[in-house]
Amino acid sequence: MTEIGLDAVPPASEANINRFSFNHTIARRLPFRTVPIRLDRPILSISFDDFPVSAYELGATLLEERGVRGTYYACTGQLGSTTDLWTVVPPDAVVDLHQRGHEIGLHSHGHAKVHDLSPAAFRADLAANRAALRRLLPGTSHETFAYPYGYSGIRQKLLLGKLARASRSVQPGINTGKLDLDFIKATELIDCAQSAASIGHLLDQACSQNGWLVFLSHDVADSPTRYGCSPALLAATIEQAQKRDMAILTIAQALDEIGAP
Ligand SMILES: [Zn+2]
Repeated sequence: MTEIGLDAVPPASEANINRFSFNHTIARRLPFRTVPIRLDRPILSISFDDFPVSAYELGATLLEERGVRGTYYACTGQLGSTTDLWTVVPPDAVVDLHQRGHEIGLHSHGHAKVHDLSPAAFRADLAANRAALRRLLPGTSHETFAYPYGYSGIRQKLLLGKLARASRSVQPGINTGKLDLDFIKATELIDCAQSAASIGHLLDQACSQNGWLVFLSHDVADSPTRYGCSPALLAATIEQAQKRDMAILTIAQALDEIGAP
């Protein structure tokens, strides 16, 4: 499983690769804000980044049929656009998902890797993301964030500690012990790397550690992209978690449960 997710475009030069990966590596290992995780029962959260029409139409319906809500991370500069991979939802889908009880989170406005941006440019991009979301969803506050491509940066992570309630990475693993609020671990829920059996194994680990397991995906289709999952895998994930009596919560609800500020 790769640490860095969707379309991690190689930087221009070897020097850049080293500089960026060094910055990301330090950032992900350097917690600025932590909270202890003490749970009554293990938690599963399911999140979608970007997010394609299929995650809205197929994914949300599938979740709701099982009494579950998800977290959708919106890159507001991409809303309604079509990429090589998929069509991103239009703004009214964001409103609809919110009204149906799903969490809508921040995923930047321009979908740049955060360490490519100066702190000032990153702050401006996040402000544009937040403003666009709040125009669609008046009254929203205290949003969570997901790093585009999973890349962090030291100064940007510090800023996120002031500007977002918490931030989700694409670093696989189960959140236990001290939670790094600005780098929540999340594992890709993708058919090309997971099966119902491997998901079951991860859920067992989360249960035995009484931890918080977060999944991230993109499209939901019978033949998903390498960044997405099939309806069958998504359904199997939820149903296996329900069999294990896990709480299935949005990222924000899980943070509430943990007692995060
Ligand atoms: Zn993204």
